[in-house]
Amino acid sequence: MIITFENGAGKERRSEIVLAALRLLPGAALRRRGRGLELRVARPEKLADAAPALENLPGVEKVSFSECELSPLACAGGDRRFSNPLDFRRGPVLIAGPCAVEDEASYLGAAAALEEAGAHALRAAIFKPRSSPYAFQGIGWPGLRIIAKAKKLTGLPLVTEATDTRQVARLTEVCDVLQIGARNMRNYELLKEAAGSGRAVLLKRGMRATLREWLLSAEYLLSRGAKKIVLCERGDSSGDGSAMDMGLIRKARKITGLPVIADPSHASGDRRLAAELALRALRAGADGLMMEASQDPFSAKVDGRQTVGVETFRTIAAAACAKNRR
Ligand code: PEP
Ligand code: MN
Repeated sequence: MIITFENGAGKERRSEIVLAALRLLPGAALRRRGRGLELRVARPEKLADAAPALENLPGVEKVSFSECELSPLACAGGDRRFSNPLDFRRGPVLIAGPCAVEDEASYLGAAAALEEAGAHALRAAIFKPRSSPYAFQGIGWPGLRIIAKAKKLTGLPLVTEATDTRQVARLTEVCDVLQIGARNMRNYELLKEAAGSGRAVLLKRGMRATLREWLLSAEYLLSRGAKKIVLCERGDSSGDGSAMDMGLIRKARKITGLPVIADPSHASGDRRLAAELALRALRAGADGLMMEASQDPFSAKVDGRQTVGVETFRTIAAAACAKNRR
């Protein structure tokens, strides 16, 4: 943590600030740094409460942190290679499926075709967070039986979005990875519930969320007991075509020990761009992809425009495999 002094803060004022800092953070190691002070503490979780008190002191211009001071567990070398339910050890993990489960026949058909085309896990969304309250909200609980069938049919793990704390326990009976969607990245109660489920959690970056906010949400999961976490970059838009931030994927990978995958479907909003974006994300070092793919994107109720067909998915899977020996 760095405390920057105000220009006008004299020697006495600065000493008072140092004493206050040591009172709030006993045992902190101090070092002068430019017009301020650097503090290193053994227990970074103490910083979150010390900072508001410190930045309120007369003579303090600002208090700043590195991402890893705020999210020590996310930066502590989490499991980037876990093998169950997703295996990141042999190259990119490909999660594919339609945006939403719509009915049994189309979902089972897509699941089997995508497994054959190279998917390692299935998107299996039965609850959909929609911008419009009038739009299809997902098939709901009747879908649980359908996705369970798909899992049995394909042998693939299921990645399922929980949109509400009350869904978590029942979803975990069948689902292998709980997805926290972009809209819910800042839903801290949902993060706590998902963390306590014992399942792996896929955490999407919220729209316009900074790396710092994203990692803080990951920290919620890790500090509440989640062991297996995947970060997923999905761009900043809700389908207006703006792409995703490859620099962010690289940086998130570099400073955390967590796998970071990319969702080119929601990032692009357009199947013609999604395939190219998928390959770019892999070149940028992404640990995998989440792609909307189905047998008949043109009849999808949700996000069909950004859903690729099975053959396009097969091409992407082949490219990912060629690059990474899967
Ligand atoms: C999804 O993956 O189904 C989804 C709703 O995406 P996002 O949360 O990124 O908008
Ligand atoms: Mn979608």
